[in-house]
Amino acid sequence: MVRIKWSLTKAPNMLNSQVFVVMVSLLTASIVYISYYIGLPYWWEKSPPITIILLLVGNWLLVNVCFHYYMGVNVPAGYPPQGSLIPEAVSICKKCIKPKPPRTHHCSVCNKCILKMDHHCPWLNNCVGHYNHRHFFQYMAFTVLGILFIMLFGVEIAYQEFFPAQDPELDGHPVRINNSEIIPVTESLDRLTEEELAEIAKQAADTNAKDWRRRLIVFAALICIATFAALGALTWWHAGLITRGETSIEARINNTESQKYKALGKIYQNPYNFGPRQNWKLFLGTIDRSWWYIFFPSNHGPYGYGLTWKTIHDTKIP
Ligand SMILES: [Zn+2]
Ligand SMILES: [Zn+2]
Repeated sequence: MVRIKWSLTKAPNMLNSQVFVVMVSLLTASIVYISYYIGLPYWWEKSPPITIILLLVGNWLLVNVCFHYYMGVNVPAGYPPQGSLIPEAVSICKKCIKPKPPRTHHCSVCNKCILKMDHHCPWLNNCVGHYNHRHFFQYMAFTVLGILFIMLFGVEIAYQEFFPAQDPELDGHPVRINNSEIIPVTESLDRLTEEELAEIAKQAADTNAKDWRRRLIVFAALICIATFAALGALTWWHAGLITRGETSIEARINNTESQKYKALGKIYQNPYNFGPRQNWKLFLGTIDRSWWYIFFPSNHGPYGYGLTWKTIHDTKIP
């Protein structure tokens, strides 16, 4: 009975969210396919050395996009441990009826408390929290860079496709059905030689390939522009949050607190804001490792277990 109830309430929810993951994967695959199918031959014809550099940069971005997306979807956000003592409980979760560590919030979709919860992300079908926050952000950042890369090196292709320097239809084709100079209109198709028929078939195939190419270019342009605008704005906003040492949820809390303090004539300070440079190092996990780690797929975890947090009021900065 319990099992049936679970399947009725949870299954549609899970199915909907997985649809988004499949959608993201298919859209990414289609853009990569279009880049190889249209972009690669175009740039190779133009300059093989430039194409090799583009292949290296493009695939470096692609590997990072895929890695961070995979990690964002599969690394659990982090939950307060079951049955063990919470070292520093700040409140009790009304839903779980359990103590909550600092920065922990309850997710109504996951129906769990999440360590340093940022938000529940349907595109990842996962909560974004302590253990996968960096992957979520790096996925967005690399995707925005990847789309920028495709747009930069694709805009010329799109321009030439829709605004060609001269109409290529006018030269190079020896056989034209409606061109009376080559084949008189009075002649019927059965009087054409086999070679001429083959040429006509080839032209029809060329036209089909051209139509398909144009459709792919329009599709890629629409997806790239829309994703760049939406994900670009989101990445920018999250970069601001990271710079200030706060999560999406804490941004709202800090805003309310600031207003309360202001009314009292005081200035509110976010307890987790150690200054932009330190905030970024803490977020990216680069306090004790090189910055190079963030440019390549790395599964290094965040600092601490997300149960206790150093604040600006502590004597030793983390
Ligand atoms: Zn809870
Ligand atoms: Zn969640």
